Amino acid sequence: MTPPAESCAPDAARPAPSPSPAWGVPVDGWKPLLASRGLPAWRADQILHALYRDFVTSWDAVTTLPKELRSELAREFPLKPCAELDRTESADGTVKLLLGLDDGNSVETVLIPAAGRFTQCISTQVGCAMGCVFCASGSQGLVRSLRADEIIAETMAARAYGTVTNVVVMGMGEPFANYDETMRALKILNAGKGPNLGARHITLSTCGVVPGFARLAAEGIQFELSVSLHAPDDETRSALMPVNRRWPIAELLAACRDYTARTKRIITFEYTVVKGVNDSPECARRLAALLKTLPCKVNLIPLSPVGHRPDFETPPESTMMMFLDVLMKARIQTMLRRSRGKDASAACGQLRLRNLIRSGDDGKTAPLAECLP
Ligand code: SF4
Repeated sequence: MTPPAESCAPDAARPAPSPSPAWGVPVDGWKPLLASRGLPAWRADQILHALYRDFVTSWDAVTTLPKELRSELAREFPLKPCAELDRTESADGTVKLLLGLDDGNSVETVLIPAAGRFTQCISTQVGCAMGCVFCASGSQGLVRSLRADEIIAETMAARAYGTVTNVVVMGMGEPFANYDETMRALKILNAGKGPNLGARHITLSTCGVVPGFARLAAEGIQFELSVSLHAPDDETRSALMPVNRRWPIAELLAACRDYTARTKRIITFEYTVVKGVNDSPECARRLAALLKTLPCKVNLIPLSPVGHRPDFETPPESTMMMFLDVLMKARIQTMLRRSRGKDASAACGQLRLRNLIRSGDDGKTAPLAECLP
């Protein structure tokens, strides 16, 4: 009797599953998935090799698999690469891409070359509900959250420009407001048979969605965690970051303290200095007082001008040096950061905003209250 052709088709008793994009399947999910269809475990290794070593974007290219299996994989586990809709390049080598999703939405990703590393800043949502006033994504509101496979597709789009060594989740969206899909994608990126990106080469950045801290601590994975603080008092922070009204600074720092105690890891605080808003010597002293007993470091960033807030200005160098001096004297490890890609619509959300304005679309938004966990 001729053996049946190798196939991942479900048996007659099982209802046909709806297509599940391949890049969203957890790396350790392929073997049981194929086994349930009577396929050998080594087919899973071939598939993973094709996806994350050869970086195929079409099943047709996986010639190690039988043709019939490739067709069925294409039908049940489609590969959905993002279309590159727009690109801006900065004089410092930073490349910003606008990537099209299959429902017509788009997200941004930024590629940042530096000596010995190639960092990609990825998005987790289309737009963002958090409404940070200096952020172009926040000004657009939330359209929707990304699926894990769409987040992975962003990293696949970067491969045309080089091998990504580091991923920072600091693009459009708040990762803790799309926790499950973000974590699923980061675990795929981190997996040995996936892209195999070390956990310490992956940084999650949150604006302070407090429930996310305990969830991340419970994962037991050594991702880096960065928190956007941007102000040392509730009044200023709430004016800059509406999320602070839900989780004020004391609650946020308690969550940070708990996270560092549970994980034995330090947190990086981002403090964007805005001229005349959060840049006084008193702000610097209060910031030092807040953080001096926390295991942390601070990144001080001069504001990058954003088109939708011409009233927000970059502080002078002397202000940045004053902040640095106050924090260093408090024995807080502090780095002065420069915004990369200033001439490439580099602030988060600017490229998408520019394209929406070009196309006459103002984006569909959801209010903050509907989007917080
Ligand atoms: S800074 Fe981050 S959290 Fe705040 S609105 Fe922009 S994308 Fe959202």
